[in-house]
Amino acid sequence: MAPQRYSNVGTALIFLYVTQLSTGMKCICLVCTNHLCETEGACWNSVMLRNGKEEVLKSCVSPHQMKGQIFCPSSSNILRRECCFTDFCNNITLHLPKVGNVSSTPSWGPLKLAVVIVIPACLLCLAAIVTICTLRGQQCPYNKIERHDVEEPLSDHSLMSSGKSLKDLIFDLTTSGSGSGLPLLVQRTIARSIVLHETIGKGRFGEVWRGRWSGEDVAVKIFSSRDERSWFREAEIYQTIMLRHEHILGFIAADNKDNGTWTQLWLVSEYHEHGSLFDYLNCHTVSVDGVIILALSIASGLAHLHMEIIGTQGKPAIAHRDLKSKNILVKKSGTCAIADLGLAVKHDSVTNMIDIPSNHRVGTKRYMAPEILDDKIYINNIESFKRADIYSLGLVFWELVRRCSIRGIHDDYQLPYYDMVPSDPSIEDMRKVVCDQKLRPNIPNHWQSCEALRVMGKIMRECWYANGAARLTGLRIKKTISQLTVTKDLKV
Ligand code: ADP
Ligand code: MG
Repeated sequence: MAPQRYSNVGTALIFLYVTQLSTGMKCICLVCTNHLCETEGACWNSVMLRNGKEEVLKSCVSPHQMKGQIFCPSSSNILRRECCFTDFCNNITLHLPKVGNVSSTPSWGPLKLAVVIVIPACLLCLAAIVTICTLRGQQCPYNKIERHDVEEPLSDHSLMSSGKSLKDLIFDLTTSGSGSGLPLLVQRTIARSIVLHETIGKGRFGEVWRGRWSGEDVAVKIFSSRDERSWFREAEIYQTIMLRHEHILGFIAADNKDNGTWTQLWLVSEYHEHGSLFDYLNCHTVSVDGVIILALSIASGLAHLHMEIIGTQGKPAIAHRDLKSKNILVKKSGTCAIADLGLAVKHDSVTNMIDIPSNHRVGTKRYMAPEILDDKIYINNIESFKRADIYSLGLVFWELVRRCSIRGIHDDYQLPYYDMVPSDPSIEDMRKVVCDQKLRPNIPNHWQSCEALRVMGKIMRECWYANGAARLTGLRIKKTISQLTVTKDLKV
């Protein structure tokens, strides 16, 4: 997050602009579009010492984050944070105290005497309370998460010895909060006691590892400090209120650990041993039932991502922008979870725009929709990005259905357009095929002889229309697939 400063004139203009549009408390936000955010919680202002320099950060704190207490307030020689509660109250620049500037207190007199008496007395009382609580076998209030020093991770022991699995912990702490994830302090505590075992994937930003926490496998995506923005963005998207869903990768924690020389940026999630759908389809064929279940789960995940839920516990519409078989994971249950939300964009209902300045040509060229390839996408509308996701979804379905084995007959695994473009196609390679020649992956005739495959083929064609507005929606696709008959009772 590169800190930025800007003039008070600019801020005043923004203030005027926003007061026309919205009603919540507005704050300066150095990492948001328009440098503004809106919250029911507090405006946040912080300065921290990084590489010998003061780094300023201003943003919004949600009521949920305030509950976790990790954000406000705090003050030390290397970190100062403040929360305030009026419009734009964080429009002041904080500074750290100069080391050695703290004037020594002269004589304390009676105050010193009081301190000498009161502190040991308090400690004695505390010891007595703890002893009584322990003897009674009751949970002592001082062991509760909220009572820990917010700067330090919790004792890992207290989390592990709760006897709860990560899934239960996430369920308990998420449902008791705002539905956006674990409190930040708990996230940090978990992240810092993970033992890394082996690398399991490589993508755009560094490596993905399998790690262990309290006897459970977890996946750890490690970003280099150069990619801090990507780490921040992905963590932010995963913690969108009400995003959690069975078919979206289960986010556990984000942590940034500074060891003095470099910053390690971690994103911890549930681990899925089958890896990506791409890996899975490369070495497995799938039954007709398997295809329906996998496809339905992907459509459910995407429909949830795309859906806007209105209300205080609502969820903004989100578009993925890099949907492909390598960004979908296969779970033990034979269903999928959509992963890699690093390029996703949210619909900002206040401005009716998408929430970050968008570079419209992000994503993987092979999976780019025609309107992205020929640069005709309307980038200020979330619907455009949702429609582009649907085009990519059709390609993922095509990869999947090719691997469907009926009486031992199936196709080999291939990437979409494998027979039409070179192995690392350029945008121009793709554009010629997809936009100029209007070609699409081949739908073989033998799919017509199986009802499920016939329907899947029809869905694909309706995902691939050149006109994005004519494509099916995620919800429609989910409904259509859910009407297909699965012989075993395995519907998602
Ligand atoms: P990038 O943003 O670098 O593309 P991804 O999140 O897509 O990173 O992960 C890269 C690869 O790592 C995936 O294609 C998959 O093979 C593997 N991977 C990622 N997350 C998990 C996970 N939770 N469980 C198992 N494998 C994973
Ligand atoms: Mg990826």
